[in-house]
Amino acid sequence: MTTEELLDFDRNHIWHPYTSATNPLEVYPVDSARGCTIKLTDGRELIDGMSSWWSAIHGYNNPEINQAIKDQVDKMSHIMFGGLTHSPAVELAQKLVNITPEGLDNVFFCDSGSVSVEVAMKMALQYCHALGTKDKTEFLTIRNGYHGDTWHAMSVCDPVTGMHSLFNNRLNVQNFVSQPKVRYNDKWDDSDFDEMYQTIKGNADRLAAVILEPIVQGAGGMWFYHPEYLRKLSEICREYNVLLIFDEIATGFGRTGEMFAMNHAGVVPDILCLGKAITGGYMSFAATMCSKNIAGVISSAEPYVFMHGPTFMGNPLACSAACKSIDILVKGNWKERIDNIEKNLKRMLNRARTVKGVSDVRILGAIGVIEMEKPVDMKIIQQKFVDEGIWIRPFGKNVYTMPPYIITDKELEFLIQKMIKVISEI
Ligand code: PMP
Repeated sequence: MTTEELLDFDRNHIWHPYTSATNPLEVYPVDSARGCTIKLTDGRELIDGMSSWWSAIHGYNNPEINQAIKDQVDKMSHIMFGGLTHSPAVELAQKLVNITPEGLDNVFFCDSGSVSVEVAMKMALQYCHALGTKDKTEFLTIRNGYHGDTWHAMSVCDPVTGMHSLFNNRLNVQNFVSQPKVRYNDKWDDSDFDEMYQTIKGNADRLAAVILEPIVQGAGGMWFYHPEYLRKLSEICREYNVLLIFDEIATGFGRTGEMFAMNHAGVVPDILCLGKAITGGYMSFAATMCSKNIAGVISSAEPYVFMHGPTFMGNPLACSAACKSIDILVKGNWKERIDNIEKNLKRMLNRARTVKGVSDVRILGAIGVIEMEKPVDMKIIQQKFVDEGIWIRPFGKNVYTMPPYIITDKELEFLIQKMIKVISEI
């Protein structure tokens, strides 16, 4: 198939994320990817600033993860998890229990991040059901959050920028409070927690859980907030018997400079969602972890089982990729790498502050965000990034990067220099 034929079929038959079927924006055909470089079929090479939406933390085509998957293929690619188990799943669960803070002992493997959010919400509801607190059926979250595109995940996404209006009256209405305003590094102000406190206090008998992304709100606006918010939240949730769910699908596995974003606050949730980087970005996979207490309560009352069990649960290929990815992370110098990326982002990305049209620049760990005053024109800006030899995929007003951890100083410098060049020209 020629590239023209490929693009023609793609345009006429294939949906891409959030695109029109009849008038899609341009897509760029990729031949291969290695390390931090994406090679297009026309031979052009792009330095990757996106880690394929936060997931490819070790870059592409990592020889060790490749080998782990090849070894596993020769044993079995998949085997049902109902009534059977295998060492890739057990080893992965052990690693997850070891690297997460104490108190998260039970692991439920899922197919994707959105599904892990659905599973977390079901766990919370089944827990309340088992305790006999059957009126506790609602969820509370903060505005500007993003938790995935499936039904209940969507119901706790931001009500304005999410899909609430589109699916109006069909989505479960959830409870929203303002986004935390105090920035990660600013001086904490107790009033930032007032609305959350009052809402929990006034509605505890209806609330099963609070769900949010700790420290970094990703796709809902790339916002970094103060760790004290989470410490207060954890205390209040405990006081009012409301479960706490952290969605670390985007932030887990080192991205923010801590292994998990919750570690910035020293807070442990009752239920934790992990995904994206769990397999080093090799394939769709996720996990929902919970405390022994939650798992015990769910299993103590009718129907005595947790009601979820997908066909590809615990897929051995995904588990073996994830085991290897976590080994590379833990045995390597991930913390030094992230600190170095953060230092370089602070040195170079801050230069964007003086560019016309830029309203804010924020950096945390290996995440660098340039917020523009107005939403960018994707058609124009995407083309310009590719022409400059970098892969950056903005959304709304945010032009941001979260590069693979293996990015070299030279590659990062190139990436940032080109990002600033492009936003200066648009
Ligand atoms: N939660 C968060 C915080 C996310 O960033 C995402 C994906 N962008 C999801 C959930 C959904 O994950 P997935 O796309 O794998 O379903």
